Amino acid sequence: MNLPVYRFAPSPNGHLHLGHAYSAILNQRAAQKYGGKLLLRVEDIDTIRCTPQLQADMLEDLHWLGIQWEEPVRKQSEHFEDYQCTLHKLEERSLVYKAYLTRAQIKRFVAQQDATGTPWPRDPDGAPLYPGDDKVLSAQDQQERQNSDAPYALRLNMEKAIAAVGQPLRWQEARTGKIQADPAAWGDVVLARKDTPTSYHLSVVVDDALQGITHILRGTDLYHATSVHRLLQTLLNLPEPLYEHHHLIMGADGRKLAKSAKDTSLRELRASGVTPAQIREMLSNPASEQTTARS
Ligand code: GLU
Repeated sequence: MNLPVYRFAPSPNGHLHLGHAYSAILNQRAAQKYGGKLLLRVEDIDTIRCTPQLQADMLEDLHWLGIQWEEPVRKQSEHFEDYQCTLHKLEERSLVYKAYLTRAQIKRFVAQQDATGTPWPRDPDGAPLYPGDDKVLSAQDQQERQNSDAPYALRLNMEKAIAAVGQPLRWQEARTGKIQADPAAWGDVVLARKDTPTSYHLSVVVDDALQGITHILRGTDLYHATSVHRLLQTLLNLPEPLYEHHHLIMGADGRKLAKSAKDTSLRELRASGVTPAQIREMLSNPASEQTTARS
């Protein structure tokens, strides 16, 4: 039996907070418990917001907390060609199209639709599904748009992608068992943009496969995204990891922690004299002891 491989995959677009500490600790604990490995992945495809300083701070915070991982660390911004290569495979199958509506145009269109009394459909994160007609344009209209030099997003043609898979998709969720995936709920997700060679969905699926990740233990905020990940894994013939989505650490106001809220950042806590042991104590929760069973 292969030993489990876990990963912690933060984005250095702000300082790590208690929620990240919780996720990292759970992954470390599970890897230790089952004799597996913990890998670290720096999800820095947003090269504007993810700065070298924030990345250095992130590694320092994780070391301070006592998280240990196996080298090398995979830094996504160093692997854009891997994601491009995977994107081309989907493009070759005509599963990707250029979508030209800007965020402002989408917003305007959706506001108009909502005003009619029938709200425009939203994805599980609450964002409107892409309303553009780009994929049904005549070849001539498409050519005109391409010649216009306007910015665009490369979107997955969801309907076609689901048809290409041809079977209902499921994933294995620790504790609850098989979950029916619903990628259609996301509409035509963005896989890349004219000036950004990848998206979260694309790079996470490529990297989990390349790094040989067997167990994905992450927050429930990414639970529904698993539907898109299972779809991409199936289209690309990539292995299926096991999933476990842990509860999120909430702020005193009952809301999800944000990187912008300084009071729960590991740096601030450390500066105020809190120790790593106290952080672990603060986050200890009997429910979190039942980590993913080895399989
Ligand atoms: N980079 C993501 C985040 O910081 C996590 C991605 C994942 O675990 O799949 O929220």
